Amino acid sequence: MCAGWLAGAACVHAGDVATIKWPKSLELFQGGLSEIHVSGANLIDVGGRMGTTPIVFYPSGPSSFAAIIGADVEAKPGLSKLLLTATDRAGAQRERVIPFRIKAKAFRKESFNVPPSFDQMSEETLEAIRREQAAFARAFAYSVPERLWEAPFVRPVPQEASASSFGFRRIINGTPRAPHTGTDLSAPMGTEVVAANHGRVVLVGNFFFAGGSIVIDHGGGLFTVYFHLSEFKVEEDAMVEAGELIALSGSSGRVTGPHLHWGARLGSARIDPLELLTKISVKSESAAGSRSAVKQMEK
Ligand SMILES: [Zn+2]
Repeated sequence: MCAGWLAGAACVHAGDVATIKWPKSLELFQGGLSEIHVSGANLIDVGGRMGTTPIVFYPSGPSSFAAIIGADVEAKPGLSKLLLTATDRAGAQRERVIPFRIKAKAFRKESFNVPPSFDQMSEETLEAIRREQAAFARAFAYSVPERLWEAPFVRPVPQEASASSFGFRRIINGTPRAPHTGTDLSAPMGTEVVAANHGRVVLVGNFFFAGGSIVIDHGGGLFTVYFHLSEFKVEEDAMVEAGELIALSGSSGRVTGPHLHWGARLGSARIDPLELLTKISVKSESAAGSRSAVKQMEK
């Protein structure tokens, strides 16, 4: 084995990195979410990227790290890769390329009609839509690097969705439109809407399509969004906790009736928010740490 302290140092290295457990491969449907794990003796850090998007890992146990990976609802099906880097206590780094397949999902198509006034855009309306797009782009442009959320995520309204309406391809007044990038939860007017997890409120506003809207930054590139609200209970920059009242539901914006549109975004990927409820099992050893990060930011 290792003879002498000098040789020993190198030997310990080789032993450590050999024990790293990487994900073998990853498959995700369009709009899907998956948790990946990297573990090994003496690991102190794991990082990675998917294309140019950084993957934010967090400690999930002794010498183990986890991250969530999402595929955009319109991601092109096919094979790509994740590049992961693990660093051990001695500073040695190992890289691993993980094959990553995006699978096409058969999203339902739905057709419906809205009053023509919604479709014939005056210059004033077009200007309102540009403001809406710019406001959301600003909200999503920055996410605090540290993870603020803790498993589990909570449903923002009590009503169960019978099925996700995420990803539906919509045909409005006979014309194909952008896919539905959230899921609609039934919520009678005035239902209490709670934060799906801890985070910072980065947008509160009223918009043409989304109506009364809130965006929460959960850190590490993860956001949740809440549309068609009738009343706000928080202001921009507020720190909220999972389950905290943020708004009342409504029917504002371009809707056919009262409901809560709930959306989620990870990096630039628009993902199905219901997957946050079902696909994350993280038992974080730093749960208290993440809560104290929230407290620190409040100061
Ligand atoms: Zn919706």
